[in-house]
Amino acid sequence: MQDSFKHQGLRNKLVSDLKMKGIKDNSVLEAIKNVPRHLFMDSGFLDHAYQDKAFPISSGQTISQPFTVAFQTELLNVKKDHKILEIGTGSGYQAAILCYMGARVYTIERIKELFRKTSVFLPSINYRPKKMIYGDGYRGYIDESPYDSIIVTAGALEIPQSLISQLKIGGRMVIPVGDQVQQMKLLIKISESDYESHNFGDFQFVPMLKEKN
Ligand code: SAH
Repeated sequence: MQDSFKHQGLRNKLVSDLKMKGIKDNSVLEAIKNVPRHLFMDSGFLDHAYQDKAFPISSGQTISQPFTVAFQTELLNVKKDHKILEIGTGSGYQAAILCYMGARVYTIERIKELFRKTSVFLPSINYRPKKMIYGDGYRGYIDESPYDSIIVTAGALEIPQSLISQLKIGGRMVIPVGDQVQQMKLLIKISESDYESHNFGDFQFVPMLKEKN
């Protein structure tokens, strides 16, 4: 499967939809315009790749809706060379968007099959996270901390303190928190012991699960 003019046209349309829905950061829109989302989807859903919808990937997980990816990425305030930790690699689409924006990306996935598949797939289409990690995102990845920002792409029941401790002072964490429906939260770490919290409305994610025993 290749990228084609047809796909590029569909992405341009998606970008104008996202602008209408309120996404403003040009570097985010530019990434959505360039990363071929259809390559991240199972063949049965290819025709729908540029609709603003979430779709199933393997292992009962989903590739987030483009609006959600754009919204979370905008809240991260990504700058070139930022060191970013992602929890929930999934299809790798969000990681590819961050790589496209020039970030140094570390991404963790707890389902081995998805981890394996995406670890091979992303470099094969020239997106190269600094490291893809198989493990429990609740623990973060202390070896490379502190991070400029952390993005959680699964719904957490509470805010994991271990992740906040791995942020730089001034660093940002974007995390959906809640059970059936999640509140999108932006946390900004203001000192070693304190952070600001801002709410950005309701979203729906697959659950962030604790480590398998
Ligand atoms: N960012 C992904 C979205 C995938 S859906 C994309 O762009 O496609 C959320 C992912 O989070 C799933 O793959 C799920 O397995 C993973 N996940 C859930 N709980 C986790 C945890 N504790 N640690 C790491 N990954 C987790």
